[in-house]
Amino acid sequence: MTAIVWFRHDLRVADNPALAKACDLKKGVVAVYIHCQSWITKHQIAPIQLDFIRRHLVVLRQSLLEKNIPLKVYSVKKSSDIPKLLLKIASEYQADHLFFNAEYPVDEIERDLEVNRQLSANSIQVKRCHDRVIIPPGMILNGQGEPYKVFTAFKNKWLQTIMPLTSTGQAMQPLPTPKKLPSLTLEPDTEESINKLFKKTDLKDSSHWQVGEKIVHKKLMQFIDNHITDYKTNRDFPAIDGTSSLSPYLALGVISPRQAIHQVLQFTHGEWDGKNAGAGCWISELIWREFYQHILVSFPHVCKRQPMQAYTEAFPWRSDKNLFSAWCEGKTGIPIVDAAMRQLLATGWMHNRLRMVVAMFLTKNCQIDWRMGETFFMQHLIDGDFSANNGGWQWSASTGTDAAPYFRIFNPISQSEKFDPNGNFIRYWLPELADLSTKEIHCPKSAKNYPAPVVDLSESRKSTIAIFAAIQSNKVK
Ligand SMILES: Cc1cc2nc3c(=O)[nH]c(=O)nc-3n(C[C@H](O)[C@H](O)[C@H](O)COP(=O)(O)OP(=O)(O)OC[C@H]3O[C@@H](n4cnc5c(N)ncnc54)[C@H](O)[C@@H]3O)c2cc1C
Repeated sequence: MTAIVWFRHDLRVADNPALAKACDLKKGVVAVYIHCQSWITKHQIAPIQLDFIRRHLVVLRQSLLEKNIPLKVYSVKKSSDIPKLLLKIASEYQADHLFFNAEYPVDEIERDLEVNRQLSANSIQVKRCHDRVIIPPGMILNGQGEPYKVFTAFKNKWLQTIMPLTSTGQAMQPLPTPKKLPSLTLEPDTEESINKLFKKTDLKDSSHWQVGEKIVHKKLMQFIDNHITDYKTNRDFPAIDGTSSLSPYLALGVISPRQAIHQVLQFTHGEWDGKNAGAGCWISELIWREFYQHILVSFPHVCKRQPMQAYTEAFPWRSDKNLFSAWCEGKTGIPIVDAAMRQLLATGWMHNRLRMVVAMFLTKNCQIDWRMGETFFMQHLIDGDFSANNGGWQWSASTGTDAAPYFRIFNPISQSEKFDPNGNFIRYWLPELADLSTKEIHCPKSAKNYPAPVVDLSESRKSTIAIFAAIQSNKVK
């Protein structure tokens, strides 16, 4: 008998609960990865992220092989084919257990429930482990037993829950890496078969992002040693290398949040939020990540293209294709917005401060539906993650939980002056403005080969506030 581990967004060997539990059974383990084209299309997975997944699978295959765990890869047309395929795989490899790590968006939960139903009906034990977050959804509740809608209260409860468990250092201790298992008479699929899962035309080169668990741990240690102490001061400046850039790896589960926080706690000698303000602030960002995943489970309507706050559905978003295209292409005439969008298009990543700036600009100044921006981000981000992306967009559009109040609208020019004071970020991504003075670069009056602003920032701001005020007063009536 064998056990199957179905890999999804947990492309690592270390600290992987599903894999560790399967290995604990002390029988043969077969690793499985299933590629589903209709899922990719429906969830708008970015070509650069697909390439990143492909490259990580090649590394994962090798790491698993070192433990005598063969990786077998499959392709299905639609996700409803997955339970039948898993049954077939279980029968072929005489498996009586299936392990996987939980995912929390609605489609993923429904897919996994169906897998559970069909495999259990065929006497295969299905084990769903928690891995994507440190404290599983549903376990952080207020005094009335309800989920939190406000981040700070969630964070406090999260810390209160975890801190007593970590005083002994145990709760955040990553799981021991599985030992080498007795060898199976089964070969892993080849690197070529992994590559064949993905159509070349669906991929965008991700090679400037290195792959593998070893690399990501090196990146984490470099960040902790060289940058974390100044994180709180530097994190908002896009021209400074002040953040970890670990999001693509956290999104694919090449590193777990527990591994990340464990290393930080080693550095701070167990202090969560103490003397090292940078470390406390970084941990706080990882708790934001947890918060948005809990939101998906507590308020699943956000997974169905609905705003968290129902009243905001009444906002009359504009449908202006030209305006949207200008934003997508980085041609809005607002340098910080355009530089950020060009960073996204070139690298698949955008600095957090700028994600907020471009999202507010699209929703509050252009009055374009946040869902269009959310989709565009998913189509281009290497770290595309439904919960963080949906949370970030709804925060920026003031439709979400604990969102920016609708009347607090970032002025992209002031943001640019404050967070890119010398214009270095703009100069890098918009070479056509490189020669402008520091004073002029944030808001060029007449630059050659550069468009005039596509919207009037002041008028559009006033209009958005008025619309929000009106729809909110209707809600109150
Ligand atoms: C409109 C919008 C869309 C976003 N879309 C995504 C997305 O698809 N995927 C994604 O991982 N993040 C998203 N974020 C959150 C954030 O911008 C990125 O996680 C961050 O920029 C990644 O850079 P980093 O790894 O250097 O982060 P660091 O500053 O080093 O933070 C460490 C980690 O904490 C997590 N994190 C940080 N900020 C947030 C946040 N606000 N919400 C949730 N998690 C956070 C990330 O996993 C990040 O890697 C979005 C934010 C906004 C405003």
